[in-house]
Amino acid sequence: SLRYLLSNCHLIKAVFEEYTMNKNKREKEFYSIDVGDSTFIVLKRYQNLRPIGSGAQGIVCSAYDQLLERNVAIKKLSRPFQNQTHAKRAYRELVLMKYVNHKNIIGLLNVFTPQKSLEEFQDVYLVMELMDANLCQVIQMELDHERLSYLLYQMLCGIKHLHAAGIIHRDLKPSNIVVKSDCTLKILDFGLARTAATGLLMTPYVVTRYYRAPEVILGMGYQANVDIWSVGCILAEMVRHKILFPGRDYIDQWNKVIEQLGTPTQEFMLKLNQSVRTYVENRPRYAGYTFEKLFPDVLFPADSDHNKLKASQARDLLSKMLVIDASKRISVEEALKHPYINVWYDPAEVEAVSGSYLLIFLFPFFFSQPPPKIPDKQLEEREHTVEAWKELIYKEVYDWEEWNRNGVIRGQPSPLAQVQQ
Ligand code: AMP
Repeated sequence: SLRYLLSNCHLIKAVFEEYTMNKNKREKEFYSIDVGDSTFIVLKRYQNLRPIGSGAQGIVCSAYDQLLERNVAIKKLSRPFQNQTHAKRAYRELVLMKYVNHKNIIGLLNVFTPQKSLEEFQDVYLVMELMDANLCQVIQMELDHERLSYLLYQMLCGIKHLHAAGIIHRDLKPSNIVVKSDCTLKILDFGLARTAATGLLMTPYVVTRYYRAPEVILGMGYQANVDIWSVGCILAEMVRHKILFPGRDYIDQWNKVIEQLGTPTQEFMLKLNQSVRTYVENRPRYAGYTFEKLFPDVLFPADSDHNKLKASQARDLLSKMLVIDASKRISVEEALKHPYINVWYDPAEVEAVSGSYLLIFLFPFFFSQPPPKIPDKQLEEREHTVEAWKELIYKEVYDWEEWNRNGVIRGQPSPLAQVQQ
């Protein structure tokens, strides 16, 4: 056996050398830079990092990608597997960003981790298209009807695409929508997982909930037009320059909803579960205000007949979006056809994917519509230990790196195989 071991020594040595070489090579590919309170360890191709935002998951930087010769955004997810909430969100985001391809949904350009093995695995970096500002910043501005309706149109196109992929967002908000100075818009995230705990009776933790629909606040069943409510809140805020329903918590937020829109009908109450219904029925009764009162002419640019017409159309759209009872609320398709929005309607665009026409022409199967439905089980019903999450997320990053090397993701058809067919 000693002879056997000795004869294999060169093999062990070779494997070790290969490992050391890869490790050194990898280390040479990265550099470390402090941005704000955080340290980014990124591939050398990304230069000139500057912090541009921060969210629940971490810091986002702009950078210049020397390889693609363009500016990009890099988001660092620090130890995304550290707890269920972080892990589920990071994993979902990673998987969905890879699947979903639409001009109004942020596109993923690269994914990497500077760590060399599962054992050492800590951080994930997501490289995305770079936009100029989030919608919070745009809300401060006085926009004309053309820009306002174009932004709404793009939100609706993005939402429609998510719905077609089986993703109902439920948590759209201005901080997760980004725009460019040419008025193009992209949605940054994929909202709440189906199994995410939410509702009046849940423990509050600090997140923005002003844009969540009554069915989310009240823990009811929901359908696709749950996202229309959020768009209505965002439009209202762009017009008023103030948050429409600024509740300190869900209870306070429900008060803000009924104070303005009025106590919902008995028909609606019957759809609530018993404990929530008791609460909702015992609130003071409010008549609510008309939409002319809620959104008077002075809030809109009304200097011409054209603008007057547009203001009344915008108000009409608001009155159809901000409906407490989802069964009476406008759908995404109807909203896209509403007079305020349909000026932009382009069937190719409503369905459009991002990417150049040449790519679509060469690889039509990548861009076929509707988008693939994501298997629910894979994403929604997972509860895992930190170790299991770590492995799942690491595998997603590893698969991406492998795809970049080979042009193939395991378990999915190779683009070359399809071309050869
Ligand atoms: P997030 O961590 O995804 O919630 O992002 C936090 C903030 O970073 C956003 O509200 C934006 O202001 C900014 N941000 C994130 N991604 C991008 C991007 N791709 N382009 C421009 N700004 C971004």
